[in-house]
Amino acid sequence: VPETPDAVLDGLDPEQREVALALHGPVCVLAGAGTGKTRAITHRIAYGVRAGILQPATVLAVTFTNRAAGEMRGRLRQLGATGVQARTFHSAALRQLQYFWPKAVGGELPRLLERKVQLVAEAAARCELRLDRNELRDVTGEIEWAKVTQTVPADYPAAVAKTQRDAPRDPAVLTQIYSTYEQLKRDRSVIDFEDVLLLTVGILQDRQDIADHVRGQYQHFVVDEYQDVSPLQQRLLDLWVGDRDNLCVVGDASQTIYSFTGATPDHLLNFRTRHPGATVVKLVRDYRSTPQVVHLANGLLSQARGRAADHRLELVSQRDKGPEPVYAEYPDEPHEAESTARRVRDLIAAGVPAGEIAVLYRVNSQSEVYEQALADAGVPYQLRGAERFFERAEVREAGTALRGAARAGRNDSLLDGAEGLPSQVRAVLSTKGWTTRPPAGSGAVRDRWESLAALVRLAEDFEAARPGATLTDLVRELDERAAAQHAPTVQGVTLASLHSAKGLEWDAVFLVGLTEGMMPIAYARTDEQIEEERRLLYVGVTRARLHLSLSWSLARSPGGRASRRPTRFLNGLRPGSTASGARGGAGGGGGIDRGTGRATAAAGRTEAVERRPRQPVRCRVCGRTLTDAGEMKLMRCEECPSDMDEALYGRLLDWR
Ligand code: ATP
Ligand code: MG
Repeated sequence: VPETPDAVLDGLDPEQREVALALHGPVCVLAGAGTGKTRAITHRIAYGVRAGILQPATVLAVTFTNRAAGEMRGRLRQLGATGVQARTFHSAALRQLQYFWPKAVGGELPRLLERKVQLVAEAAARCELRLDRNELRDVTGEIEWAKVTQTVPADYPAAVAKTQRDAPRDPAVLTQIYSTYEQLKRDRSVIDFEDVLLLTVGILQDRQDIADHVRGQYQHFVVDEYQDVSPLQQRLLDLWVGDRDNLCVVGDASQTIYSFTGATPDHLLNFRTRHPGATVVKLVRDYRSTPQVVHLANGLLSQARGRAADHRLELVSQRDKGPEPVYAEYPDEPHEAESTARRVRDLIAAGVPAGEIAVLYRVNSQSEVYEQALADAGVPYQLRGAERFFERAEVREAGTALRGAARAGRNDSLLDGAEGLPSQVRAVLSTKGWTTRPPAGSGAVRDRWESLAALVRLAEDFEAARPGATLTDLVRELDERAAAQHAPTVQGVTLASLHSAKGLEWDAVFLVGLTEGMMPIAYARTDEQIEEERRLLYVGVTRARLHLSLSWSLARSPGGRASRRPTRFLNGLRPGSTASGARGGAGGGGGIDRGTGRATAAAGRTEAVERRPRQPVRCRVCGRTLTDAGEMKLMRCEECPSDMDEALYGRLLDWR
């Protein structure tokens, strides 16, 4: 802990110091990745608190993910400042909502809807529409857009006309699905992710007494990753701030990656217009990455187009030279995963801590093949966004059910015929919808199933260790394990989507699956959507401190047709490619020499590896072996949900 308030300012450069010292009035920090934005605002709060200028309980710091909020609280503690609220918009809103709900509405806050896409499908069915997976994804996204832009169903067609949106359905039909969906939620007394913000905004707007109470508590506001604030979050922020102006925002327009949820960098870029007296600070020194990584990041930005790109800031690395990025091409996806796992293992053997390594992909469903490969290579890993086991909703719910059954004991007809402990557990879990076969569901559905399957395995191990143990013994064991979970979890390699890697950093980053169709993702059609994909890659590249690997595979499955191409975003940047889009390959200067399977290039290294024997192709979501050609191409069963569902569920899980 720094001894004096001034010591908190040590370790900040002059511009960051300016941010830390501007404790009153509006402040806006515009800066690229790794320039120390998050560090500057964290030190700013710590300095203000330590110097007695800010009362910790009156500061609300808003970050993008719960993990970022946790990290900020940890840093503040290290700097000697405790008691500051660091939360996401959702968790801050939820807390306020839970507190004010009984007074504002009465009763308890409704429960949070978990399977949104399913409910949208149900709403569509009531409107006599059967939507396929892609349509469902688009319609759900459109409803979300409507909600975050505060467009009620009746106003939706007018909003489409006004914004000239490319609506996925006839606006009148969408209005119908949207209002049915809202009705279904009311009937079932559930609220969705967007409702948490909408209801908070509604209450703060309507109830002066409650708004006054909240404003009385919070006097200083700090928002990280401000480029991705949605109109609804902005509205909430405005209500929190009121007519005061102690607001500090930091962001990087080049890292806007949540436009699909209605987020826009306009709030960041227009901050000075809205707050004419604002202190505006720009940071360009990149403290995170080596000159090699920064060079690639700048190269990506130099090809970017659009409003965000007009505000790009060239990064200047402050670090010593490091290794060149490695570009690697593989014949197929399992091969890419296997080789990535091997390279991860080599890095760990060379002394890089597993917790300092990340494998990042475009969509969550890409994780499975990497999980498998890392497990096979004996490398510990953790999925980003995944919660601690005993804190998962389904595990807690199962615990409650098991406790209930343990009390009822043998009189419970549910346990009739279930002799050993594990079969009793299975019988109880079946009431929670658990089946012995894994479900054909999205990542989140599958995750839930895995949690419950793990509980059954735990029961099996427990019985093996203590023959004759009862359900009551098991429940006691579960409680003890849950209580003991304060011990640090295994520091493994992080597997995460590019979206959820925002704001984070690792010594070594593997960006995998960088093919056209994945990067940019196939459903990115408009120029704006393509630009957002490019920014997503920029976010990925700038997560690396030292080692950076970019890889892709030519076919999805072993023996498949090598029809895939590396992402266009690396054209002109990776060896053996040109800016106009010519492909790298055998014979290209510094490209891939398939004869030896390995080659080096001036600006980086490209590796190609020998082919593997043919293997069954499995669904990436449910694991079923696929036979249908179309499904094999997708590497996913037709009935398994789309990646977007997972992005939505992923956010939900992360938030919860
Ligand atoms: P992103 O846009 O990715 O969120 P950021 O601008 O928030 O990045 P930080 O995460 O705050 O950047 O900082 C990047 C890294 O550089 C961190 O490891 C941080 O500790 C380090 N860093 C920032 N400023 C300095 C400094 N003045 N001296 C030394 N290290 C610094
Ligand atoms: Mg940051």
